[in-house]
Amino acid sequence: MKIDFVVIGSGIAGLNAALNVAETGKVLLITKKRLIQSSTNFAQGGIAAVLNKTDNFKKHVKDTLIAGCFHNDKNAVEFMVKNGPRAIKKLIHIGVKFDICNKSICLTREGGHTKNRIAYSGDRTGEEIEKTLIKTVKKNPRITILENTFALDLIVKNKTCFGVQVIHGNKIKNVFARAVVLATGGIGQIYQYTTNPEIATGDGIAMAVRAGAEVKDMEFIQFHPTALAMPRKPLFLLSESLRGEGAILINSAGERFMKKAHKLAELAPRDIVAREIYQQQKSGPVYLDISHKKPEFIRKRFPKI
Ligand SMILES: Cc1cc2nc3c(=O)[nH]c(=O)nc-3n(C[C@H](O)[C@H](O)[C@H](O)COP(=O)(O)OP(=O)(O)OC[C@H]3O[C@@H](n4cnc5c(N)ncnc54)[C@H](O)[C@@H]3O)c2cc1C
Repeated sequence: MKIDFVVIGSGIAGLNAALNVAETGKVLLITKKRLIQSSTNFAQGGIAAVLNKTDNFKKHVKDTLIAGCFHNDKNAVEFMVKNGPRAIKKLIHIGVKFDICNKSICLTREGGHTKNRIAYSGDRTGEEIEKTLIKTVKKNPRITILENTFALDLIVKNKTCFGVQVIHGNKIKNVFARAVVLATGGIGQIYQYTTNPEIATGDGIAMAVRAGAEVKDMEFIQFHPTALAMPRKPLFLLSESLRGEGAILINSAGERFMKKAHKLAELAPRDIVAREIYQQQKSGPVYLDISHKKPEFIRKRFPKI
Protein backbone atom coordinates (compact mmCIF):
# COMPACT_ATOMS: atom_id res chain seq x y z
CA MET A 1 0.00 0.00 0.00
CA LYS A 2 1.17 3.55 -0.78
CA ILE A 3 -0.13 6.82 0.72
CA ASP A 4 1.11 10.38 1.33
CA PHE A 5 1.30 10.23 5.15
CA VAL A 6 1.04 7.58 7.84
CA VAL A 7 0.24 8.70 11.37
CA ILE A 8 0.72 6.08 14.09
CA GLY A 9 -1.37 6.66 17.21
CA SER A 10 -4.80 8.11 17.95
CA GLY A 11 -4.22 10.26 21.03
CA ILE A 12 -4.16 14.07 20.97
CA ALA A 13 -0.82 14.07 19.10
CA GLY A 14 -1.79 11.59 16.37
CA LEU A 15 -5.30 12.96 15.78
CA ASN A 16 -3.98 16.53 15.56
CA ALA A 17 -1.13 15.49 13.28
CA ALA A 18 -3.58 13.65 11.00
CA LEU A 19 -5.80 16.74 10.72
CA ASN A 20 -2.81 18.98 9.99
CA VAL A 21 -1.13 16.83 7.34
CA ALA A 22 -4.51 16.09 5.71
CA GLU A 23 -4.39 19.70 4.49
CA THR A 24 -1.66 18.66 2.04
CA GLY A 25 -2.34 15.00 1.25
CA LYS A 26 -4.00 11.68 1.99
CA VAL A 27 -3.46 10.21 5.44
CA LEU A 28 -3.59 6.72 6.88
CA LEU A 29 -4.15 6.86 10.65
CA ILE A 30 -3.32 3.58 12.33
CA THR A 31 -3.84 2.67 15.95
CA LYS A 32 -3.22 -0.60 17.77
CA LYS A 33 -6.58 -0.86 19.59
CA ARG A 34 -9.73 1.22 19.23
CA LEU A 35 -9.35 4.92 18.39
CA ILE A 36 -10.35 6.07 21.87
CA GLN A 37 -7.74 3.92 23.67
CA SER A 38 -5.05 6.43 24.59
CA SER A 39 -3.59 8.27 27.58
CA THR A 40 -5.32 11.34 26.21
CA ASN A 41 -8.71 9.82 26.99
CA PHE A 42 -7.64 9.38 30.65
CA ALA A 43 -6.45 12.96 31.23
CA GLN A 44 -8.43 14.61 33.99
CA GLY A 45 -7.03 17.94 35.16
CA GLY A 46 -6.69 20.16 32.09
CA ILE A 47 -4.28 21.97 29.79
CA ALA A 48 -1.87 24.76 30.72
CA ALA A 49 -1.75 27.92 28.60
CA VAL A 50 -1.58 31.67 29.07
CA LEU A 51 -5.25 32.57 28.80
CA ASN A 52 -5.84 35.72 30.85
CA LYS A 53 -4.37 39.17 31.37
CA THR A 54 -2.83 38.51 34.80
CA ASP A 55 -0.54 35.93 33.17
CA ASN A 56 2.09 36.18 30.43
CA PHE A 57 4.45 34.02 28.32
CA LYS A 58 7.49 35.03 30.38
CA LYS A 59 5.93 33.71 33.60
CA HIS A 60 4.80 30.44 31.99
CA VAL A 61 8.26 29.89 30.46
CA LYS A 62 9.91 30.64 33.84
CA ASP A 63 7.63 28.23 35.77
CA THR A 64 8.28 25.49 33.19
CA LEU A 65 12.06 25.97 33.30
CA ILE A 66 12.06 25.91 37.12
CA ALA A 67 9.92 22.73 37.17
CA GLY A 68 12.43 21.18 34.73
CA CYS A 69 15.43 22.28 36.86
CA PHE A 70 16.64 24.26 33.79
CA HIS A 71 17.48 21.02 32.02
CA ASN A 72 14.65 21.80 29.55
CA ASP A 73 15.21 22.58 25.89
CA LYS A 74 14.46 26.31 26.15
CA ASN A 75 13.42 26.64 22.50
CA ALA A 76 10.90 23.83 22.91
CA VAL A 77 9.51 25.40 26.10
CA GLU A 78 9.14 28.80 24.40
CA PHE A 79 7.48 27.21 21.37
CA MET A 80 5.00 25.32 23.55
CA VAL A 81 4.16 28.34 25.72
CA LYS A 82 3.76 30.78 22.80
CA ASN A 83 1.60 28.36 20.79
CA GLY A 84 -0.48 27.18 23.77
CA PRO A 85 -3.29 29.77 23.52
CA ARG A 86 -3.60 29.18 19.74
CA ALA A 87 -3.82 25.41 20.30
CA ILE A 88 -6.61 25.86 22.86
CA LYS A 89 -8.50 28.17 20.47
CA LYS A 90 -8.18 25.52 17.75
CA LEU A 91 -9.67 22.90 20.08
CA ILE A 92 -12.56 25.23 20.94
CA HIS A 93 -13.06 25.87 17.22
CA ILE A 94 -13.59 22.15 16.51
CA GLY A 95 -16.05 21.88 19.41
CA VAL A 96 -14.13 21.09 22.62
CA LYS A 97 -16.11 22.50 25.55
CA PHE A 98 -13.99 23.90 28.36
CA ASP A 99 -15.77 24.96 31.58
CA ILE A 100 -16.78 28.62 31.59
CA CYS A 101 -16.63 30.97 34.61
CA ASN A 102 -18.03 34.53 34.22
CA LYS A 103 -18.04 34.31 30.41
CA SER A 104 -14.33 33.30 30.21
CA ILE A 105 -12.60 29.92 30.33
CA CYS A 106 -12.30 28.76 33.98
CA LEU A 107 -8.66 28.47 35.01
CA THR A 108 -7.30 26.40 37.88
CA ARG A 109 -3.82 25.79 39.28
CA GLU A 110 -1.56 22.74 39.05
CA GLY A 111 1.90 21.78 40.30
CA GLY A 112 4.79 24.11 39.48
CA HIS A 113 2.53 26.88 38.12
CA THR A 114 2.55 30.21 39.93
CA LYS A 115 -0.62 31.32 38.10
CA ASN A 116 -4.05 29.85 37.45
CA ARG A 117 -3.59 28.74 33.84
CA ILE A 118 -5.16 25.28 33.52
CA ALA A 119 -8.22 25.15 31.24
CA TYR A 120 -10.43 22.15 32.00
CA SER A 121 -13.59 20.32 31.21
CA GLY A 122 -14.76 19.07 34.62
CA ASP A 123 -12.40 16.27 35.61
CA ARG A 124 -12.58 14.63 32.19
CA THR A 125 -10.69 17.10 30.00
CA GLY A 126 -8.89 14.40 28.01
CA GLU A 127 -12.08 12.51 27.18
CA GLU A 128 -13.73 15.72 25.93
CA ILE A 129 -10.73 16.50 23.69
CA GLU A 130 -10.28 12.90 22.47
CA LYS A 131 -13.95 12.46 21.54
CA THR A 132 -14.11 15.81 19.73
CA LEU A 133 -10.89 15.14 17.79
CA ILE A 134 -12.14 11.66 16.81
CA LYS A 135 -15.39 13.16 15.50
CA THR A 136 -13.43 15.72 13.46
CA VAL A 137 -11.01 13.13 12.06
CA LYS A 138 -13.89 10.81 11.09
CA LYS A 139 -15.48 13.62 9.07
CA ASN A 140 -12.29 14.32 7.09
CA PRO A 141 -12.46 12.55 3.69
CA ARG A 142 -8.68 12.62 3.33
CA ILE A 143 -8.11 10.50 6.45
CA THR A 144 -8.47 6.70 6.41
CA ILE A 145 -8.60 5.07 9.82
CA LEU A 146 -7.29 1.58 10.60
CA GLU A 147 -8.05 0.40 14.14
CA ASN A 148 -6.60 -2.77 15.70
CA THR A 149 -3.52 -2.30 13.54
CA PHE A 150 -0.17 -2.66 15.27
CA ALA A 151 2.87 -0.77 13.97
CA LEU A 152 5.81 -3.14 14.16
CA ASP A 153 8.78 -1.37 12.64
CA LEU A 154 9.73 1.52 10.42
CA ILE A 155 10.92 0.67 6.91
CA VAL A 156 14.32 2.33 6.75
CA LYS A 157 17.08 2.30 4.17
CA ASN A 158 20.19 4.53 4.13
CA LYS A 159 18.87 6.47 7.13
CA THR A 160 15.64 7.33 5.28
CA CYS A 161 12.21 6.19 6.42
CA PHE A 162 10.02 4.93 3.57
CA GLY A 163 7.07 3.64 5.57
CA VAL A 164 6.01 1.26 8.29
CA GLN A 165 5.43 -2.45 8.71
CA VAL A 166 2.13 -3.25 10.45
CA ILE A 167 0.15 -6.23 11.67
CA HIS A 168 -3.43 -6.02 10.43
CA GLY A 169 -5.88 -8.93 10.57
CA ASN A 170 -3.11 -11.40 11.53
CA LYS A 171 -1.08 -10.43 8.46
CA ILE A 172 2.12 -8.40 8.23
CA LYS A 173 1.83 -5.62 5.66
CA ASN A 174 4.09 -2.83 4.40
CA VAL A 175 2.71 0.69 4.09
CA PHE A 176 4.86 3.12 2.11
CA ALA A 177 4.53 6.87 2.63
CA ARG A 178 6.25 10.21 2.04
CA ALA A 179 6.34 10.74 5.79
CA VAL A 180 5.57 8.72 8.91
CA VAL A 181 4.51 10.42 12.15
CA LEU A 182 5.19 8.51 15.37
CA ALA A 183 2.55 9.58 17.91
CA THR A 184 2.50 6.43 20.01
CA GLY A 185 2.54 8.07 23.45
CA GLY A 186 4.38 7.15 26.63
CA ILE A 187 6.01 4.27 28.41
CA GLY A 188 4.29 4.16 31.84
CA GLN A 189 3.36 0.48 31.61
CA ILE A 190 6.98 -0.62 32.08
CA TYR A 191 6.67 0.42 35.75
CA GLN A 192 4.97 -1.58 38.49
CA TYR A 193 2.79 1.37 39.50
CA THR A 194 1.39 3.66 36.83
CA THR A 195 -1.67 5.73 36.03
CA ASN A 196 -1.05 5.15 32.31
CA PRO A 197 -3.39 2.87 30.33
CA GLU A 198 -2.33 -0.47 28.90
CA ILE A 199 -1.44 1.00 25.48
CA ALA A 200 1.44 3.04 27.02
CA THR A 201 4.21 0.57 26.25
CA GLY A 202 6.73 2.83 24.48
CA ASP A 203 6.38 1.10 21.08
CA GLY A 204 7.19 4.24 19.09
CA ILE A 205 10.32 4.95 21.08
CA ALA A 206 11.50 1.36 20.54
CA MET A 207 10.73 1.57 16.80
CA ALA A 208 12.64 4.84 16.53
CA VAL A 209 15.66 3.38 18.35
CA ARG A 210 15.64 0.28 16.12
CA ALA A 211 15.49 2.59 13.09
CA GLY A 212 18.65 4.37 14.28
CA ALA A 213 17.09 7.53 15.77
CA GLU A 214 18.71 9.10 18.81
CA VAL A 215 16.64 9.40 21.97
CA LYS A 216 17.44 11.70 24.86
CA ASP A 217 16.54 12.29 28.51
CA MET A 218 14.86 8.89 28.76
CA GLU A 219 15.53 8.81 32.50
CA PHE A 220 13.08 11.68 33.07
CA ILE A 221 9.78 9.87 33.48
CA GLN A 222 7.14 11.93 35.25
CA PHE A 223 4.88 10.17 37.74
CA HIS A 224 1.57 11.50 38.98
CA PRO A 225 2.20 12.03 42.71
CA THR A 226 -1.34 11.13 43.85
CA ALA A 227 -3.38 8.07 42.89
CA LEU A 228 -5.99 6.09 44.80
CA ALA A 229 -4.29 3.45 46.99
CA MET A 230 -6.31 0.51 45.66
CA PRO A 231 -4.98 -2.59 43.90
CA ARG A 232 -6.07 -1.66 40.42
CA LYS A 233 -4.29 -1.47 37.06
CA PRO A 234 -3.75 1.22 35.96
CA LEU A 235 -3.95 3.10 39.25
CA PHE A 236 -6.85 5.56 39.43
CA LEU A 237 -5.42 9.08 39.26
CA LEU A 238 -6.40 11.65 41.87
CA SER A 239 -5.89 14.68 39.66
CA GLU A 240 -3.50 17.43 40.60
CA SER A 241 -6.41 19.81 40.14
CA LEU A 242 -7.74 18.52 43.50
CA ARG A 243 -4.63 20.11 45.03
CA GLY A 244 -5.23 23.08 42.72
CA GLU A 245 -8.60 23.49 44.48
CA GLY A 246 -6.91 23.40 47.89
CA ALA A 247 -6.64 19.69 48.82
CA ILE A 248 -3.74 19.09 51.22
CA LEU A 249 -1.48 16.10 51.85
CA ILE A 250 -1.50 14.63 55.36
CA ASN A 251 0.81 11.95 56.76
CA SER A 252 -0.16 9.10 59.08
CA ALA A 253 0.51 11.36 62.11
CA GLY A 254 -2.04 13.84 60.73
CA GLU A 255 0.62 16.42 59.79
CA ARG A 256 0.61 18.55 56.65
CA PHE A 257 4.14 17.80 55.40
CA MET A 258 4.46 19.60 52.04
CA LYS A 259 4.63 23.08 53.61
CA LYS A 260 8.01 22.20 55.13
CA ALA A 261 9.26 20.64 51.89
CA HIS A 262 8.64 23.45 49.36
CA LYS A 263 7.38 27.02 49.21
CA LEU A 264 4.59 25.98 46.78
CA ALA A 265 3.59 23.22 49.28
CA GLU A 266 1.16 20.73 47.61
CA LEU A 267 1.59 22.59 44.30
CA ALA A 268 5.36 22.09 44.12
CA PRO A 269 6.64 20.43 40.91
CA ARG A 270 5.50 16.80 40.63
CA ASP A 271 8.88 15.15 41.20
CA ILE A 272 9.25 16.96 44.52
CA VAL A 273 5.73 16.06 45.71
CA ALA A 274 6.16 12.43 44.58
CA ARG A 275 9.50 12.04 46.41
CA GLU A 276 8.09 13.59 49.60
CA ILE A 277 5.05 11.26 49.54
CA TYR A 278 7.41 8.31 49.03
CA GLN A 279 9.41 9.31 52.14
CA GLN A 280 6.24 9.78 54.22
CA GLN A 281 4.83 6.41 53.12
CA LYS A 282 7.74 4.70 54.88
CA SER A 283 5.94 5.43 58.17
CA GLY A 284 2.35 4.89 57.04
CA PRO A 285 -0.32 5.87 54.54
CA VAL A 286 -0.62 9.35 53.06
CA TYR A 287 -4.01 11.05 52.68
CA LEU A 288 -5.30 13.70 50.31
CA ASP A 289 -7.67 15.88 52.31
CA ILE A 290 -10.23 18.12 50.58
CA SER A 291 -12.71 18.10 53.47
CA HIS A 292 -12.63 21.92 53.63
CA LYS A 293 -14.77 21.94 50.46
CA LYS A 294 -18.50 21.28 50.49
CA PRO A 295 -19.72 17.92 49.07
CA GLU A 296 -21.81 19.77 46.44
CA PHE A 297 -18.67 21.56 45.15
CA ILE A 298 -16.72 18.29 44.91
CA ARG A 299 -19.57 16.48 43.14
CA LYS A 300 -19.91 19.29 40.60
CA ARG A 301 -16.22 20.01 40.02
CA PHE A 302 -14.94 16.41 40.16
CA PRO A 303 -17.87 14.18 39.15
CA LYS A 304 -15.70 11.29 37.94
CA ILE A 305 -13.30 11.29 40.88
C1 LIG B 1 -4.46 9.31 34.00
C2 LIG B 1 -3.79 10.42 33.22
C3 LIG B 1 -4.13 11.75 33.46
C4 LIG B 1 -3.51 12.78 32.76
N1 LIG B 1 -3.89 14.07 32.99
C5 LIG B 1 -3.33 15.08 32.26
C6 LIG B 1 -3.76 16.43 32.40
O1 LIG B 1 -4.67 16.73 33.16
N2 LIG B 1 -3.16 17.38 31.65
C7 LIG B 1 -2.16 17.10 30.76
O2 LIG B 1 -1.65 18.01 30.10
N3 LIG B 1 -1.74 15.82 30.60
C8 LIG B 1 -2.30 14.82 31.31
N4 LIG B 1 -1.88 13.53 31.14
C9 LIG B 1 -0.85 13.28 30.14
C10 LIG B 1 -1.47 13.33 28.75
O3 LIG B 1 -2.66 12.58 28.77
C11 LIG B 1 -0.50 12.77 27.72
O4 LIG B 1 0.72 13.46 27.79
C12 LIG B 1 -1.05 12.93 26.33
O5 LIG B 1 -2.40 12.54 26.27
C13 LIG B 1 -0.24 12.08 25.38
O6 LIG B 1 -0.85 12.13 24.12
P1 LIG B 1 -0.26 11.28 22.94
O7 LIG B 1 -1.13 11.50 21.76
O8 LIG B 1 1.20 11.58 22.81
O9 LIG B 1 -0.34 9.75 23.44
P2 LIG B 1 -1.63 8.85 23.74
O10 LIG B 1 -2.82 9.67 24.03
O11 LIG B 1 -1.24 7.82 24.74
O12 LIG B 1 -1.85 8.11 22.33
C14 LIG B 1 -0.94 7.13 21.88
C15 LIG B 1 -1.63 6.34 20.79
O13 LIG B 1 -0.70 5.50 20.11
C16 LIG B 1 -1.27 4.21 19.93
N5 LIG B 1 -0.17 3.25 19.79
C17 LIG B 1 0.83 2.99 20.69
N6 LIG B 1 1.66 2.05 20.19
C18 LIG B 1 1.19 1.71 18.96
C19 LIG B 1 1.61 0.79 17.96
N7 LIG B 1 2.68 -0.01 18.11
N8 LIG B 1 0.89 0.71 16.82
C20 LIG B 1 -0.23 1.48 16.63
N9 LIG B 1 -0.67 2.36 17.55
C21 LIG B 1 0.03 2.48 18.69
C22 LIG B 1 -2.11 4.02 21.20
O14 LIG B 1 -3.02 2.98 21.06
C23 LIG B 1 -2.73 5.41 21.31
O15 LIG B 1 -3.84 5.53 20.44
C24 LIG B 1 -2.50 12.48 31.81
C25 LIG B 1 -2.15 11.15 31.57
C26 LIG B 1 -2.80 10.12 32.25
C27 LIG B 1 -2.43 8.69 31.95
